[in-house]
Amino acid sequence: MELRNYFSAKRLDFPIIANAQVHGKKLIYLDSAATSHKPKSVIEAMQTFYLHDYATVHRTIYSMTEQATAAYEAVRSQIKRHFQLSPSKEVIFTRGTTDALNLVASSLSTLLLKPGDEVILSAMEHHSNIVPWQMACERLGAKLRVIPFDAAGVLDLESYRKFLQGGRAKIVAVAHMANSTGTIHPIREMANLAHEYGAYLVVDGAQSAAHLSFSLEELKADFYCFSSHKLYGPTGVGCLIADRGLLERMPPYQGGGDMIRQVTFEKTTYNDPPLKFEAGTPMIAEVIGLGAAFSYLEQIDLKKLEQWENHLLQQATEGLKELPGLRILGEAPKKGPILTFIVEGVHPLDLATLLDLDGIAVRSGHLCAQPTLAAFGTPYACRASFSLYNTEEEISAFLASLQKTLKKLK
Ligand code: PMP
Repeated sequence: MELRNYFSAKRLDFPIIANAQVHGKKLIYLDSAATSHKPKSVIEAMQTFYLHDYATVHRTIYSMTEQATAAYEAVRSQIKRHFQLSPSKEVIFTRGTTDALNLVASSLSTLLLKPGDEVILSAMEHHSNIVPWQMACERLGAKLRVIPFDAAGVLDLESYRKFLQGGRAKIVAVAHMANSTGTIHPIREMANLAHEYGAYLVVDGAQSAAHLSFSLEELKADFYCFSSHKLYGPTGVGCLIADRGLLERMPPYQGGGDMIRQVTFEKTTYNDPPLKFEAGTPMIAEVIGLGAAFSYLEQIDLKKLEQWENHLLQQATEGLKELPGLRILGEAPKKGPILTFIVEGVHPLDLATLLDLDGIAVRSGHLCAQPTLAAFGTPYACRASFSLYNTEEEISAFLASLQKTLKKLK
């Protein structure tokens, strides 16, 4: 199979994936939804920057800093190209998705929310797309409305429409792909509805950015956030993408160097976006690494990637369905490569501990989505997630180890 050969060659680009051993067994890494591994090109780009090119950005004019600034800004342009952004859109570097969501929840809420207004979330959000909105609502006297989902993990768009029809919602915040179930939400439809009722749509793209091919303009989201470390880049950096006009109206999130135009003790005036939202010395080497991660992704046909990850998901789903007492949480028709499950009478932490003895890394616990798991009636679950470097053999080994482990535990 052409896809199999294509992706098994890519696997060699990832040193840990190609070489690591755990408890004397070859590592089978099924936790890319938490964080992905890094190809050599990303690691080398950061190393080269630190060994040969390191300097600060934006502040001064000597040659090294001008080169570092050009390299840093080139990554911003690269991201604009990657997501096919219109010239009215701006890319802000943040520390990651959590930081980007906190920025929007703090600043956009200050601009828009009055007592009695509403923020709509889905019941399938990561904690980082819940808590910042809760904090903003508490501060400004606004209220959260939560879109429920059905047993398959599909959002109830009728409830969503009703919340909007209430006329008090100013902001909707929803994940593109849920980290708990893998459900891909109908963002374009949700954006059109939000706009019809005068609300802004904030999209948490932490899970979608590395897996789906899409144009952000077609998605119609007003804000899109993602983390570098889930798309083969380094930790500590991510992005917020938004309309420049809106960013100009939003108050700054943090104060400090770079975000100002003029400071006196009487009054400070602010820089234009994006720098208005990038206070302090940024994550320079990490942005360089993120650029290398996008360059890596750009060599890969993202349609092929979707096909491969979907193929692995199908193989794993079929295998799990054969195991007695096992329940998959979320089987939406549109799903990313995420498979969350529980087994009757078996604690997910025990399961993950025993899988680890076979070298298999899966996520276990509340998945940073306690309300979602509560809606499925469990506090904890196991999650296996797949990426371009996973293979059919690894899925088979995972299924065999799971079967053996369950026999032991039950
Ligand atoms: N949202 C979703 C859907 C996620 O999966 C994650 C990471 N698990 C986050 C937000 C938070 O991302 P980060 O920890 O990189 O800030």
